[in-house]
Amino acid sequence: MSREVLKYILWSLCATLWVGVCFVLPDFLDNPVHDLRSILTIALYVVAISGASWSILYLAGLNRYVAWVAIPLFGIAGAAISYFRVAFHATITPMIIDATLHTNEGTIAGVVSWQLVVWVLINMFIALALVYWRHRTIRLQYAWIHALVAMVILIGYYNAHWHLKAAINQRFPYNVVHSWIEYERQQQAIHGERSQLAYEAVALPDSLDIVLVIGEAMRADHLSLNGYMRSTTPLLDQRENVVSLPNIYSEYTYTATSIPHILSPADSLHPEWCYSYRSFIATLRENEFTSAWLSNQDNGRTYTSFIHEADTIIFPNANKSVYVFSPWYDANLLPPLDSLMGSKETRRLFVLHSIGSHWYYDLHVPDNCKHFTPLTTDRIITNNTREQVINSYDNTAVYMDVMLDSLIQRFEARNAILIYLSDHGEALGEDGEWLHAGSSLALHNPACIVWFSDKYASAYPDKIKALVANKDKRYRTDFLYYSILSAAGIEAEGDSPKMNIFR
Ligand SMILES: [Zn+2]
Repeated sequence: MSREVLKYILWSLCATLWVGVCFVLPDFLDNPVHDLRSILTIALYVVAISGASWSILYLAGLNRYVAWVAIPLFGIAGAAISYFRVAFHATITPMIIDATLHTNEGTIAGVVSWQLVVWVLINMFIALALVYWRHRTIRLQYAWIHALVAMVILIGYYNAHWHLKAAINQRFPYNVVHSWIEYERQQQAIHGERSQLAYEAVALPDSLDIVLVIGEAMRADHLSLNGYMRSTTPLLDQRENVVSLPNIYSEYTYTATSIPHILSPADSLHPEWCYSYRSFIATLRENEFTSAWLSNQDNGRTYTSFIHEADTIIFPNANKSVYVFSPWYDANLLPPLDSLMGSKETRRLFVLHSIGSHWYYDLHVPDNCKHFTPLTTDRIITNNTREQVINSYDNTAVYMDVMLDSLIQRFEARNAILIYLSDHGEALGEDGEWLHAGSSLALHNPACIVWFSDKYASAYPDKIKALVANKDKRYRTDFLYYSILSAAGIEAEGDSPKMNIFR
């Protein structure tokens, strides 16, 4: 290897060090760590993810004139994104791209501060110094061979392991491209053609509020409502008009696959219907229900078309992803709900997609709900004891109890019904399995709770009688489509006692 090549490799490693320290490390500063081992793990992540920038910088620097443009632009973008990551715990998401595209300049000007300008200038200076070094001191020959090798390394490294790829996609500069692609795919999904299941409005009420709360990773057996030894749902335990259904089966064990099956008429015989049919939101809208989707999660590609069936869509935490380790609560959904509740419409649907029991549990539970201790102390779940993980998980149930109780208070005086259904369960160390998307039994048994107001009970006594009689029966999460329409007095084609908890 010639001296010039070695100099160029050294240059590219220094450029990578810059990206690692200034743009990748900021993504990890809020990660919970509790000992040297976890600090070393994080350091390894930073190095592995920074490594994905090496070949990009290597390619960008090959032509000295391209480098003068590409490297400073790379620095400006990296500086801006890392600044927002540290100052506001905000990251690039498809929802943020959507919001940015539809935001006027005044709002953008509002987020520019002197600290941001200084950080961008510092990184501009580093970028220009790197390019100057490259331009003045290194003479490379056969650039195309270098380009070819760098391309092969780039593709090989990016695809080396799905776990590494997922982590890289969430960090600069890959997160910019990844979020753009995801945004474009969501747009395609929103504009795709879908059919609608036939239905008959048999007993449409004059006025009704339907509230659907989609839980996240809440398993049925960790609720005192279902006999769990710890008092995780003390408020709902004491409430009248609350019916828990402990035997719900979710075939799908992660959000992206389970939610389309919950919202659409897809069932075990027609699983593909979640890609070709509209949800109950469209049906309710046709029957003069105003609808709102309030989400503390993302605008997932597999269910964004259902979200966009709603009249109003609100993401109070659009700049958060599960890779952001800062507090972020479901109570953030309440202010937008309260402002919508002032509306005069008589039939209304509110869908609340909660962050619920998503890892890192402690960040989604306010301190006054942290009843069980000691809590987790490390973002790597296996660096905690099982006791710590279960404590932190159970606190998410305590907070869910508080959230549902506070929602019920808002609707108590109205003709209203609330259905809470978690998208799937969560593994808590059984057979060495943690979190979700695996195969353990607890993942398939999500929590499900129904509450109804007194007015609702007197308007639909037969439905309530059936609900109470059905409470211990086994249903697949497919029940939701038919049941929520049934709760509104609408009978969808294919409605049957197996699909409808109100029948
Ligand atoms: Zn989920």
